[in-house]
Amino acid sequence: MAKIHENTATELLLKLISGETTPVEVMAHYLERIGKLEPKIHALTFVNKDNAMKEAEKADKELKKPKGKKKPLLGIPLIVKECISTAGMQTTCCSKILQGYVPPYDATVVIRLKEAGAIIIGKSNMDEFAMGSSTERSCYGPTKNPWDFKKVPGGSSGGSGAAIAAREAPLALGSDTGGSIRCPASYCGVSGIKSTYGRVSRYGLVAYANSLEQIGPIATTARDCAMLLEIMAGKDPLDSTCVDMPVDQYSKGLQSVKGLKIGIPKEFFAAGLKDDVKSAIDKGIDLLKSLGATTTDVSLPSIKYSLPVYYLIAMCEASSNLARFDGLRYGARVDVPKGNFDTVYSKTRQEGFGPEVRRRIILGTYALSAGYYDMFYVKALKARTIIQDDFKKALAKVDVLIGPTMPTTAFDIGTKVDDPLTMYLEDVLTVPINLAGIPSMSVPVGFDKGGMPVGMQIMGNFFKEAQVLGVGMAIEDKLQFHKKIPPVGA
Ligand code: GLN
Repeated sequence: MAKIHENTATELLLKLISGETTPVEVMAHYLERIGKLEPKIHALTFVNKDNAMKEAEKADKELKKPKGKKKPLLGIPLIVKECISTAGMQTTCCSKILQGYVPPYDATVVIRLKEAGAIIIGKSNMDEFAMGSSTERSCYGPTKNPWDFKKVPGGSSGGSGAAIAAREAPLALGSDTGGSIRCPASYCGVSGIKSTYGRVSRYGLVAYANSLEQIGPIATTARDCAMLLEIMAGKDPLDSTCVDMPVDQYSKGLQSVKGLKIGIPKEFFAAGLKDDVKSAIDKGIDLLKSLGATTTDVSLPSIKYSLPVYYLIAMCEASSNLARFDGLRYGARVDVPKGNFDTVYSKTRQEGFGPEVRRRIILGTYALSAGYYDMFYVKALKARTIIQDDFKKALAKVDVLIGPTMPTTAFDIGTKVDDPLTMYLEDVLTVPINLAGIPSMSVPVGFDKGGMPVGMQIMGNFFKEAQVLGVGMAIEDKLQFHKKIPPVGA
């Protein structure tokens, strides 16, 4: 029989319902695995040991009740990223400025998942305030990639990506402002989806750049992502940007990909794409063709402006969002003897924020200041509309777009963290999607010569998550990548 962690969440649920295993057995198994693996991987910032076990005991009792509809995630352990609010559990964005902060409330998605029976097993590591692509910029130190401990897991939801790859839990939540779900999914060989802007409530997500970000699932399969997203998505009166539209049954998948029109955007295959990545993606596309899909070349001419446009908008929004961390309301405060508000405020922020967060606040504030506002911020907003139009035009002709998620595979820890521009370049294929607001997921399709996973990006039209996830499921049904577990020594 497969060990507990070798199951997908969907498989585990069936075994829980049939009584082949119990929530207590499942929780104990994952907690033990976390205990063994965390010293090597450091994907988690907090483990909910005692409470998770108590919740599992309650789930045991509930499952044994003979009657009544069973909750759809009853007894399944869930990891939550450090920037998503969890009542009574630290939510620090991996920043010194929020150390010690414990929110009094749950994010809407957390409430929905708990109500569905999921049990929070821990919180995951991330780049400070979700600014980064490697999880090296956390005040708790970096996370390692389970496929090779010398490499980064990607970021900013690298803790969630690495924890899922190492099977420290079957399900996790990440957030994606410019690629932070898809990048770690790609680098760690797991699946993750950023939904259409407005599909999932952001209430309780600590804001970095509100107009770009969504909370989303990271799991070993697209099928598990679908199951999670189905529960998370949908109208929330507490988030006015969250759209009131029915949620499709994502977990059903597609009948078949026969006749599906796939657009291949040539800009996703431009210079800088690693050969091994290209050949893995080509194989993935061939696989879909063998299942009856057709391909057409398409062009997104304006996405070459995506990086500067994204970084301008993201930094402007960050500078205004992060103004609330004043040392008075949340987390840490640096006391200045005989200081006034100004001195306490600036000292707290100087010592509380890391260098990348400070850089972005300064640049964002500059770009928003009088005289520069039109030149930078307004211009970036106009360019964003043009980029979005490129996607609309392409997606009027095809069902989905396919390309690589990342131009390379995971890189060595320490090689890019001191060079902000090189780090920003990592996001070249993920940020255009957030600017456009469309859904996109990363699924594993192969390995490079060094044995590091390659992720394929599937992008769809607004609110067509079912199609995106369906294509992901078609790939995983054939490749069975989720059966490959990194050799983490446990
Ligand atoms: N790497 C990008 C950034 O640093 C994206 C991060 C994210 O999606 N949160 O802004």
